[in-house]
Amino acid sequence: MSNRCPDCEHFVSLEISEEDEFHTDPEIDDEGNINAEFRLLLNCAECGGEMKESAVEFYVEPMEEIQEHINKYVPGVDDESDHEFEVECTSSFVGERYSGDSKIPRRFRKKFYVIDLEFGVRCETHPTWPGYSVAVTKEVRASDMEDIN
Ligand SMILES: [Zn+2]
Ligand SMILES: [Zn+2]
Repeated sequence: MSNRCPDCEHFVSLEISEEDEFHTDPEIDDEGNINAEFRLLLNCAECGGEMKESAVEFYVEPMEEIQEHINKYVPGVDDESDHEFEVECTSSFVGERYSGDSKIPRRFRKKFYVIDLEFGVRCETHPTWPGYSVAVTKEVRASDMEDIN
């Protein structure tokens, strides 16, 4: 697979962009469901022009910690039973892997981008609750990336 860069017009290799620190703006609902979209971006290794992208959806189920926290406060009985959950992406890393036997040349193997994200959850109403962090991983096949130009 060769990639011709529309900016510098060279046939180039691609590199993973680290332009935006975490490329994601996660959201959490009242039950603790986390949704986030990560923009995986590949740049021209020579001029840095944007070449391929993929919007990768992440979903994390409510953890036991948040269910216990919610159950501690009975609506209508306890004061401050309204939670204001906050989530942020605390770490992100994109790596690569190739499927199959490592003795086979890479060009005959499927390439994947591996996205590791970590989310931290807190409650604004109850700042003494330590919250938790959760790590999630997703893979994108390199051939499924979309051309930007
Ligand atoms: Zn280029
Ligand atoms: Zn709370």
